Amino acid sequence: MSTSENNQIKTNGYIEVICGSMFSGKTKELICRLENAQQNNQRVVCFKPDIDTRYDKSNIVSHDNKKFKSISIKKSEEILNMFKNYDVIGIDEFQFLDKEATEVCSHIANSGKKIIVAGLDMDYLGRPFNFMPRIMALSEKVTKLHAKCDDCSAQGNHTFRKNKSEKLVQIGEKTDYLALCRRCFNKRIKKNE
Ligand SMILES: [Zn+2]
Repeated sequence: MSTSENNQIKTNGYIEVICGSMFSGKTKELICRLENAQQNNQRVVCFKPDIDTRYDKSNIVSHDNKKFKSISIKKSEEILNMFKNYDVIGIDEFQFLDKEATEVCSHIANSGKKIIVAGLDMDYLGRPFNFMPRIMALSEKVTKLHAKCDDCSAQGNHTFRKNKSEKLVQIGEKTDYLALCRRCFNKRIKKNE
């Protein structure tokens, strides 16, 4: 085997999903996995939908302010022109991407690369969020993270919107959203009806 072949990290293609409510540490976990890959001399690139520019246009940023360089995209198909020189491809805020995104991920994984996707598994009404269920089904590994319930400190897995907006996509911060456990989420939803 030649030296260059020795340096190639063998993978047969792989999709990993990191999901959970807001404030569950998804972006932090994504950054951690991407940094680990870099430390193992893998070539890493990260994308995010350009709808999510709350902190930074050219980085993904976790709530504890860890950063990783990222490319903002309008359509998931843009990734197809940019992934070839990389071993590991990260995508943050996957729930905001279009319906082609799952096929894009499958295509890239089928070419032997590793994809790591992070996103909200449920929307503010507790419904599976856009194409997240689909990528979870197609992936090799799913990690579900939890936040702490803002009402009772139990394990929280719901994102609750404090204002009355009915827009599905509304970028927000701690002032607009709560992380809640199942019981406290149901209580607050009932109160809002
Ligand atoms: Zn609770």
